[in-house]
Amino acid sequence: MTPKIAIVGRPNVGKSTLFNRLTGTRAALVSDLPGLTRDRKEGEADLGGHMLNIVDTAGLEEATEGSIPDRMRRQTEAAIETADLVLFVIDARDGVTATDETFARTVRASGRPVVLVANKCEGRRADEGFYEAFRLGLGEPVAISAEHGLGLIDLERDALAALG
Ligand code: GDP
Ligand code: MG
Repeated sequence: MTPKIAIVGRPNVGKSTLFNRLTGTRAALVSDLPGLTRDRKEGEADLGGHMLNIVDTAGLEEATEGSIPDRMRRQTEAAIETADLVLFVIDARDGVTATDETFARTVRASGRPVVLVANKCEGRRADEGFYEAFRLGLGEPVAISAEHGLGLIDLERDALAALG
C-alpha cells in the first residue's frame, strides 16, 4: 500500500498551500479566510522519488457556532488515525498558539510518526516562532515557506526519514 501523509494544523497556517506545493496542483483552495477548505483533499506527492498519498485536512467548515471546535477535532483525529505520517503545520510568524498546543497533544497521543513543520519562515519575523515550536514536544521543527517554495528539500528528507 502507498503510504499516506496527513497535513494537519489549525486554520490558516498554510496547509493547503503546502498540499499544492507537494502535489504540484492547485487542487486545494487557498484563502486568507480561515476555514475555506470544506472537504478533505487527496492527491499524490512525489517525495524524493517516492509517490505518496497526501491528504489536506480542513481546519473548519461552516462557522456554525458551537460546532467548529468539534468538527475540527473530529476531522483532524480521523486523518491522523489513518495516516502513516503526520505533517503538523504551524505558522511561525504567529508563534505557537493554544490551538496548536491542543492539536499537538492529539498528534502526540496518536503515536503516529510526525514531522513538525514551521511554515511562513521566509523572513526574520518567523525566527521567534520557529524556536517556540520546539516546546510542542514533536521534535525539531523543519523551517519552510510553502508559498515561496523554501525548505521543501529538508521537509522531504525529514518526512522520508520519519516514514522509515
Ligand atoms: P490552511 O487554512 O492551513 O489550509 O492555509 P492556506 O494554505 O489556505 O493559507 C492561508 C494563508 O497563508 C494564505 O493567505 C496563504 O497565501 C498564506 N501562506 C501560506 N503559506 C505561506 C508562507 O509560506 N508564507 C506566507 N507569508 N504566507 C503563506
Ligand atoms: Mg486549507
